[in-house]
Amino acid sequence: MENALSLPRPGRCKWAEGDSGNYTFPCNVRVESGTSYCADHRALVYMPPEERRRSRSAAAPVFKRIAA
Ligand SMILES: [Zn+2]
Repeated sequence: MENALSLPRPGRCKWAEGDSGNYTFPCNVRVESGTSYCADHRALVYMPPEERRRSRSAAAPVFKRIAA
């Protein structure tokens, strides 16, 4: 299925998925000029590796953490 160009769209979140040079940009959230990512993906990009690994293994949405 041809759903996305392999380049980020101007004015849209540049969050990429894929590997081996074969990326898609599934997030279509508009961002301000000079900003690369929407708020949600920016949080992921700047998340410490340790935190990222933990959330991936949890297989749950990162932003729906249950408060302890
Ligand atoms: Zn995004």
